[in-house]
Amino acid sequence: MDLRFPFSPAEVAKVRMVQFGILSPDEIRQMSVVHIEHSETTERGKPKVGGLSDTRLGTIDRKMKCETCTANMAECPGHFGHLELAKPMFHIGFIKTVLSIMRCVCFNCSKVLADEEDHKFKQALKIKNPKNRLKKILDACKNKTKCEGGDEIDVQGQDTEEPIKKSRGGCGAQQPKLSIDGMKMIAEYKAQRKKNDDQEQLPEPVERKQTLTAERVLSVLKRISDEDCQLLGLNPKYARPDWMILQVLPIPPPPVRPSVMMDTSSRSEASIFYDDLTHALAMIIRHNENLRRQERNGSPAHIISEFAQLLQFHVATYFDNELPGLPRATQRSGRPIKSICSRLKAKEGRIRGNLMGKRVDFSARTVITPDPNINIDQLGVPWSIALNLTYPETVTPYNIERLKELVEYGPHPPPGKTGAKYIIRDDGQRLDLRYLKKSSDHHLELGYKAHSFSQNIFNWTLLCCSLCFNYPNLWLQVERHLNDGDYVLFNRQPSLHKMSIMGHRIRIMPYSTFRLNLSVTSPYNADFDGDEMNMHVPQSFETRAEVAELMMVPKCIVSPQSNRPVMGIVQDTLLGCRKITKRDTFIEKDVFMNILMWWEDFDGKVPAPTILKPRPLWTGKQVFNLIIPKQINLMRTSAWHSESETGFITPGDTQVRIEKGEVLSGTLCKKALGSSAGSLIHVIWEEVGPDAARKFLGHTQWLVNYWLLQNAFSMGIGDTIADAATMEKINETISKAKEDVKQLIIKAQNKDLEPEPGRTMMDSFENKVNQVLNKARDDAGNSAQKSLSESNNLKAMVTAGSKGSFINISQMTACVGQQNVEGKRIPYGFVDRTLPHFTKDDFGPESRGFVENSYLRGLTPQEFFFHAMGGREGLIDTAVKTSETGYIQRRLVKAMEDIMVKYDGTVRNSLGDVIQFLYGEDGMDAVWIESQKLDSLKM
Ligand SMILES: [Mg+2]
Ligand SMILES: [Zn+2]
Ligand SMILES: [Zn+2]
Repeated sequence: MDLRFPFSPAEVAKVRMVQFGILSPDEIRQMSVVHIEHSETTERGKPKVGGLSDTRLGTIDRKMKCETCTANMAECPGHFGHLELAKPMFHIGFIKTVLSIMRCVCFNCSKVLADEEDHKFKQALKIKNPKNRLKKILDACKNKTKCEGGDEIDVQGQDTEEPIKKSRGGCGAQQPKLSIDGMKMIAEYKAQRKKNDDQEQLPEPVERKQTLTAERVLSVLKRISDEDCQLLGLNPKYARPDWMILQVLPIPPPPVRPSVMMDTSSRSEASIFYDDLTHALAMIIRHNENLRRQERNGSPAHIISEFAQLLQFHVATYFDNELPGLPRATQRSGRPIKSICSRLKAKEGRIRGNLMGKRVDFSARTVITPDPNINIDQLGVPWSIALNLTYPETVTPYNIERLKELVEYGPHPPPGKTGAKYIIRDDGQRLDLRYLKKSSDHHLELGYKAHSFSQNIFNWTLLCCSLCFNYPNLWLQVERHLNDGDYVLFNRQPSLHKMSIMGHRIRIMPYSTFRLNLSVTSPYNADFDGDEMNMHVPQSFETRAEVAELMMVPKCIVSPQSNRPVMGIVQDTLLGCRKITKRDTFIEKDVFMNILMWWEDFDGKVPAPTILKPRPLWTGKQVFNLIIPKQINLMRTSAWHSESETGFITPGDTQVRIEKGEVLSGTLCKKALGSSAGSLIHVIWEEVGPDAARKFLGHTQWLVNYWLLQNAFSMGIGDTIADAATMEKINETISKAKEDVKQLIIKAQNKDLEPEPGRTMMDSFENKVNQVLNKARDDAGNSAQKSLSESNNLKAMVTAGSKGSFINISQMTACVGQQNVEGKRIPYGFVDRTLPHFTKDDFGPESRGFVENSYLRGLTPQEFFFHAMGGREGLIDTAVKTSETGYIQRRLVKAMEDIMVKYDGTVRNSLGDVIQFLYGEDGMDAVWIESQKLDSLKM
């Protein structure tokens, strides 16, 4: 139980409902414990009675007690006071609502302006949602210029709940146009109305424009009947419209706006720094007093109005000091005063910053960089972080010697060593090792104390006898620094799936970045262009166990979301795998032996070489034979496999065949080593287990990377150049397409073009042109790709699946292709043309954004411009899409966050309502779902 509330005689009750509402002036007075009258806070060094620090409001002084509840600072949350305003004031948060309500009701008699004769009003009444109803009623009342129904009482047969009032019984008063200007409400009368209207009961001919005081508005709102309130969407029990005008201001207690004592000894007033709210409140009280004095003295109306305006300004800025069109209320220093609004609002505000999310202890954040030499479940942690974060370790006979050493090192251990920051003694006392001198007498001194505590010492009481003089006997826990192998949680935002937070074992490293294996970048969606990630240190055995058993990276390799691994071999390793497993790759003895040195399970026995004479040579596939677990069998095809090539051994070596952990044939590419279902990683994870998969990912990287390092790889301009014959063919394809488009234009101009069904003539023309040009680009790209030799480095990357694609090849070597904006060819931005370089009404490919050049040849200025237009749209799209989908995802998660699978297999929400009787309606764990192939007749 909470120590602060050890016992309460109150009955435990269930919350059935929460009702929000507006505080009425009476409620504020009833809540209040003190009527605040003075802007001064202290008087002769003591809190002034009736001032902003009145002790009845509660206290923030350790030495003083609350005069209302007699509790001390820690226990009393404070009590509200109140201030009687000299004149009613607009509440800046309600002023828009007040305006809407004022527009709905008669200015003279406070009746709702429209009645059921009005079609719009009738419609509005049907709306259940009060907020929407108010909007609709406002819509219906907007155009009423007078309070109808005055004298001529038209009796109607319809009976409603108020038959007497059926005639509506309006007063006939002319209605002013209301608007808001800053904190003022302005009423405007239409002048010509007077002439046309033959009503005798005209409102007195006031000036056409009139500033409404809050007092005047209040009198209108007060007269609104309860029925009309209900109609306007306000429950008169909890939120009468007149309560939206401030008459009494609640004064929050000092715990809400604590002042800081700088120099508590002197207790002089200069040494107290008040909170901004206290300043703002003092200002309000001062101006309220001024206004009251002016009224008492019977000052002229315009003077009083000016003072009221001043008070209104301070009341408004107390709530919100970032109102548009208003000057900021400032401190004497010129710094704007922090208002209540800015405390709550925005990302760092109370709601988003302190309630929805908080900063946490035992966490670290820094930039991430890759390290291909560590395992996927490891995490390189900088020394500076490891020596700052701690793990509380309980002292036992088994670790006492080790912990003693750590304590000896203290918070600043020698290079390469970790130490400890705190000792927690059995009496709960926390010793900061920064201030504990290492002198031996100090230890002894502590050692003596041990005896006085020895009665409530548990498992180490034994120790106490054997090591009686040693101070560790007093310890219960040591907050030691992080060590290699400690479990941590690692996270990258946005945390969109469970693999966004995974468990790692740390390895302390020099320099200041987190180091992670390249294969875990995909589940985190991380790259190394400046990404930062967060680390959290679990603080108990229980959490460590959960991390180790449920969250470690190897256990998260297969995701239930699509029944496949989320990690695979990526980047240079993937490319290396494709190159090393090619048929013509042979490894010399020296290199192969060095590769073996990267193999953890190397037992000193070098496998027999594939080729013995003239010199021993090993194949690249043999490297994989070392690291693929022996129970693995797999049949796949390479990415560039064509269905026409049948049989187990194809010319392109595209049939991957692994039997008993041996690669018999095939080149390993993304299809075999990537994160697709049924890949090598998937099979190893399921057949041998997470740890084998972890080992395989690590070994593949270390062995293959070493080989790739010895072989080197680079890509240059040369890899994008097609041979002359191919270039000729590409040019032909493009000229042919341009000619085709020309024919299309002629056909369209002669009105010979058949419009496609459901399309206009223009649309079908555009569609046809698009088809022709896209086909041209693809054809050109195809011939370019075909021309690239097996030794082409770009092709090597594309076939491996590590970087690049068909479209990249064709754009680099053949033709960049049509540029689009909003899914159409580049539109006319000038008059009848895209750029001044073209003639008007040119529908040809060049003038509408077809880039016939390749990146290798370079773009013309016009092409460059079109390309930039298309590219810009792409950038905007991604920016908009990420924010939109992110928000949608957040809403979905928030709506479903309480739904969980219970131990009986049902899926339920927090109320226990069943959502699914069996998880997923099939009760299957998606991690273990795999597709199976059956030998069957192919049709
Ligand atoms: Mg990035
Ligand atoms: Zn109190
Ligand atoms: Zn009226």
